[in-house]
Amino acid sequence: MKHPYHIEGPALISFSGGRTSAYMLKQMLDAAGGAFAPDVHVVFCNTGREREETLRFVHECQVRWGVPIHWLEWRDRRKGTPVEQRFEEVGYNSASRNGEPFEALIRSKKSTPNAVSRWCTQHLKVQVCANFMEARGYKFWTNVIGLRADELRRAVKKDRQNEEGKSPWTNVMPMVRAGHTNDDVRRFWFGNMTPTDAVQIQKDFGPSAAITLPQRFDLGLEEWEGNCKLCMMLGYQVLLHRIRRDPDEPLWWSRMERIGKGTFTTEYSYEDLRRAALTSPLLDLGDNFSSDAECGVGGVDASIRCGRKAA
Ligand code: SF4
Repeated sequence: MKHPYHIEGPALISFSGGRTSAYMLKQMLDAAGGAFAPDVHVVFCNTGREREETLRFVHECQVRWGVPIHWLEWRDRRKGTPVEQRFEEVGYNSASRNGEPFEALIRSKKSTPNAVSRWCTQHLKVQVCANFMEARGYKFWTNVIGLRADELRRAVKKDRQNEEGKSPWTNVMPMVRAGHTNDDVRRFWFGNMTPTDAVQIQKDFGPSAAITLPQRFDLGLEEWEGNCKLCMMLGYQVLLHRIRRDPDEPLWWSRMERIGKGTFTTEYSYEDLRRAALTSPLLDLGDNFSSDAECGVGGVDASIRCGRKAA
């Protein structure tokens, strides 16, 4: 029987920059003897609105584990544009940090994505990955998804997509195959520490404090902090909490709502959110809203770990 993390090319491993997909990447790398075959590609799609900690974490995984990671950004969606010009390969230093790819997409679409029509994931991540593989001449490939064994409902959807056969790729979920859950991911990164304590020491003493953790480095973000900083898939309370910690961040999102002539959610604008965050009492929600946040690991399914819609 094959090792659950064994992969044969051509394959694309979509790395979201979160702990779960990093865990999966390391297991696959170990199963491959420390290096992938040339037709197995690891890709990180940068929206430009990621946290700096996420970018540093992707870079650290790349350097510490010696695995080449392609940093890709969306550039163009026009039908006549050759696939290799629809995205651009960047790196840790040159990666966009002011939402440039996201803003360019909103300008191109002349609208604003929202929870129902979440085309930001489709264009900025899923399509960029597909274009990357097509630009390399692949007609069919294996798409490695970082869904865990405790996410079976989502995994079933991915299997259903395979049966429908509408994409040039076939989804595989090694963590489901291996029976690995969020407990395994947490143990890998935090050992016996709680996630909150492990993150707090990094916030108090800087990223180098992660040297005391099992992998000697870490993402340094709480479990609900990943992906685009104010992703509309997050719940109202989570968004308020993020804005209280970073009061200027809604300005970019409000500007996008003006450019796209629409709001990211039907219930409120980001200007409403900013006002609410600045005028309501500071609540420390602590661990009360642990949400995974690894956008793009499951294609365009809005339920796939972009944070939860909280009450
Ligand atoms: S994290 Fe949210 S805002 Fe960013 S691409 Fe995913 S769904 Fe869109």
